[in-house]
Amino acid sequence: MTVPKALNLVSSVDEVHFIGSKRAQILRSMGIYSVEDLLCYVPRTYLDRSTIRTIASLALEEYATVLGRVLWAREWRKRLSVGLADDTGRLELCWFRSGDYLKEKFVKGAMFTVSGRVGIYRGGLQMVHPEFEQVGDENESAPPGIMPIYPMTEALRRVHFDSRNFQKSVQDCLDRLSVSLPQRLPESLLNEKKFPSLKECFRYIHFPQEIGHLPRYMERFKYEEIFFFLLKMAELRGKSRTHGVPFLPAGELEADVRGRIPFQLTGAQERVLSEIKDDLRGGKIMHRLLQGDVGSGKTVVVALAMLGVVREGAQVAIMAPTEILAAQHYDGLKRILESSGIPVALLTGGVTGAAREELDQRIADGGVRVVVGTHALISRTTCFQRLGLVVIDEQHRFGVHQRFALKGKGREPHLLVISATPIPRTLAMTLYGDLDISIIDEMPPGRKPVKTRLVPEGKRGDMYNFLRTCIAHGRQVFVILPLISESEKRDELKSAIAMEDYLNRGPLRGARIGLMHGRLKPAEKEKVMEQFRAGGFDVLVSTTVVEVGVDVPNATVMIVENAECFGFSQLHQLRGRVGRGHIESFCFVMPSPQAVPEAMERLKMFCSTADGFKIAEMDFAMRGPGEMSGFRQSGMPEFRFINLLRDHKLIAQAKADVEKLAGGGYTITGPESARLTQGLTEYDHLQEKLLQTG
Ligand code: ADP
Ligand code: MG
Repeated sequence: MTVPKALNLVSSVDEVHFIGSKRAQILRSMGIYSVEDLLCYVPRTYLDRSTIRTIASLALEEYATVLGRVLWAREWRKRLSVGLADDTGRLELCWFRSGDYLKEKFVKGAMFTVSGRVGIYRGGLQMVHPEFEQVGDENESAPPGIMPIYPMTEALRRVHFDSRNFQKSVQDCLDRLSVSLPQRLPESLLNEKKFPSLKECFRYIHFPQEIGHLPRYMERFKYEEIFFFLLKMAELRGKSRTHGVPFLPAGELEADVRGRIPFQLTGAQERVLSEIKDDLRGGKIMHRLLQGDVGSGKTVVVALAMLGVVREGAQVAIMAPTEILAAQHYDGLKRILESSGIPVALLTGGVTGAAREELDQRIADGGVRVVVGTHALISRTTCFQRLGLVVIDEQHRFGVHQRFALKGKGREPHLLVISATPIPRTLAMTLYGDLDISIIDEMPPGRKPVKTRLVPEGKRGDMYNFLRTCIAHGRQVFVILPLISESEKRDELKSAIAMEDYLNRGPLRGARIGLMHGRLKPAEKEKVMEQFRAGGFDVLVSTTVVEVGVDVPNATVMIVENAECFGFSQLHQLRGRVGRGHIESFCFVMPSPQAVPEAMERLKMFCSTADGFKIAEMDFAMRGPGEMSGFRQSGMPEFRFINLLRDHKLIAQAKADVEKLAGGGYTITGPESARLTQGLTEYDHLQEKLLQTG
């Protein structure tokens, strides 16, 4: 007998049993590279077989587990219905968008345990998209107890890597891992915390004995995650509080520029502006987060705030996450700054060859004072003569490193980062611990809240009638679709192209319809956007490229198709694209026919409020730990374990511990200190991976 090869946390997933090259490839595409990544892939939920119920005893709306035999399975237009029965009654299971995998599984006579919310459909009991687990025949029946259910993807299903197989792989990892796992937290801190050992924790979350004990084991992972996050923040804060070049307010120049702004600043805008100006003149490097709901008028604040820097001959770099947004900032700033003699330039990936060389030259010799751009700004060829202020718009779209890369282009420039995700202040202080915070908490006057309605498929015709009226009155319309990607295509989501075609031939015949999607080249996108802004199209059919920042005051109607595919905050951002003028605006939220009841509930909640803070809170509240994707756009760093709202106690503890550590409150050996540093580096890597995908 051969002794099985030992594994360690960094062993590649293809060394694990049950994982061949095909499965490994799919796992890697999900960000699971190593044994540690695999172990950290936390079950989404658990199926507790010790509490199996009879079908007759089920109550509506409760979440329950039953064991039954398949009576029949039918598929109609990708919708799979399965009849399941036990000795007491019958239940219908239902999947929309089912794959072949599902159909093949539910053969007549097979035994399954299923869990889900109990609903009613045509008078019978129903579960939509239940968790399920096949139970073998009598002699090979599944072990009783608790079965973890892992977040599954279509790709995993195709290679038959279901929860059962996943658990088997994890078992293999745990069997072959050496007993003592490397410890990132210092001994003295761990002693105080009394966590179970790392290996025990991994074992328990994948093989729990009792659901009630899970939190104790999860806590260790949560703690480590937030601990290193906070440690990183403390480190950044320590670095940042050093001497900075003072810039005095711009006096006459500011008055001159203000004269060209066609409105009065709100009280909140004025307050935030003076907070920034105070920072700039103060002699320490500014590290400030400017936060304000979509449409609260952050741009003009930034424009005025930078004048002091410009007047003294230093440069300002403004980095935006998309070319469209960069172009828009550029246009806006040029309009109000150039007549005051301030040269503004746009630097994106689209500027190449001789034009790029010339621009780089002008930036290097100080000929350009304000440079607006995308991440092209941090490319190696671009050097500033004297960079005084770095502004980062929609900062969550960039990693910590990109932020620092741009800062590194100057000698300790001031930093202003901007975010449109209104998060609770206490949370902001935890998450952006390295930053001071300014909040614009007031909307410009005259804004009417966007009327948001959930439109069922049956009302589509009425909606188009309304749209035609709006267009006849010279208004413009956004039609938003989820991004086109390979996997989504399979799910038959409507593509932007098909939608444009449909509108052109049918309901909006005669209207001028523009098309915008991710496959267009940047220059093409800009052209389409410019044309829309100039009124050249009545309708813009678009994937989410319009999501951030785009400002077209004449656009008063937005339709969001397949709305259940979007996260809350993302929907809020989208909705912020309309209602930017004085005219009453509308947002029509259209779920696809496949939307599950839970998704419909979410959308109803969204329609009921326009308050960005409430929306952010709902978004957090719904985000389960271990959720791998879907909320990336919401502006938060993605955490694997911690739930920012629910785990506030643990966060507070970790914060206190980090402070104690910094104050020398824990004895730390040399190797332990090295491991802390190592932990921080790994953390960077994780952040980078997560934040860059947004
Ligand atoms: P965001 O905070 O989302 O970046 P913008 O800066 O794009 O918002 O501003 C949204 C719109 O509101 C723009 O058209 C801008 O000109 C306008 N705006 C900004 N401040 C005011 C104000 N005080 N009064 C009236 N309109 C304003
Ligand atoms: Mg903006």
